[in-house]
Amino acid sequence: MSGDSKEQSNIFYTKTAPILLAECLLSEGKVKSLYRLAEEPEKVYIHFHDKVTAGNGRRVDFPEGKGKVCCLISALLFEMLESRGIKTHYLGTQGLDTLLCKKLEIVPVEVIVRNIAAGSIVRQTTLTEGTILNPPLVEYYLKDDAKDDPLLTPDRVALMGIDPTKMREVALDVNLQFQMLFTLMGIDLVDFKLEFGYDSHGNLFLGDELSPDNMRLWRKGTKERFDKDLFRKDEGDIVEAYTYILEEMRRFV
Ligand code: 5GP
Repeated sequence: MSGDSKEQSNIFYTKTAPILLAECLLSEGKVKSLYRLAEEPEKVYIHFHDKVTAGNGRRVDFPEGKGKVCCLISALLFEMLESRGIKTHYLGTQGLDTLLCKKLEIVPVEVIVRNIAAGSIVRQTTLTEGTILNPPLVEYYLKDDAKDDPLLTPDRVALMGIDPTKMREVALDVNLQFQMLFTLMGIDLVDFKLEFGYDSHGNLFLGDELSPDNMRLWRKGTKERFDKDLFRKDEGDIVEAYTYILEEMRRFV
């Protein structure tokens, strides 16, 4: 367990990254905080905490090293996607647990790509866990914890004033790039969540984080997990599993 806790002020987070000043805090998510840069209003720091939550924040733990491993996996994946021509908010890293990113206005829609049925699609349909989804399924969910992130239709997304087409296109491209990498690693990419946002010029970028917190990763041909389901189901040590993923990724990226 790290010393992180909900009660401590944000100044705590400046201990390992002195550049993140409490007065620059823009917002605090469940496991990350967003800081503005004093001199550069178009950029932000995203600081990853040693913290994991499940059930819409109802379960919480503070595993040491978790922020660092999620940050480093995200950096590696963002760099890979950028090198393949996908526009992301990633600009670099600041220390080991902080990303430097373009400031985005986040689209209130979570885009999920599924290659294998697991999680909510199994609970909500007649599909059984492990069913291959080919072509992959792209879904949209409202990004609103107070409403428990309900499933949206593409028409509902359009009614919200958001064009789902471009996000779908990018999500499927990301899926192809991720699948190539994870196949080399001997991992099945079951599903993952993406978030998007617009910069001040109205350009769409991939945002948020790309880590096993937002994905399901199973050892090829099995259901051995290397993702947040280990915590959700209380089945093992996520930092150990995420570190394995990071080390394997470094062999191939
Ligand atoms: P499901 O809809 O099956 O719960 O989730 C599908 C995929 O999206 C999983 O990889 C899951 O980790 C990710 N996902 C969906 N919603 C959230 C969320 O609110 N937070 C995080 N970290 N991941 C999510």
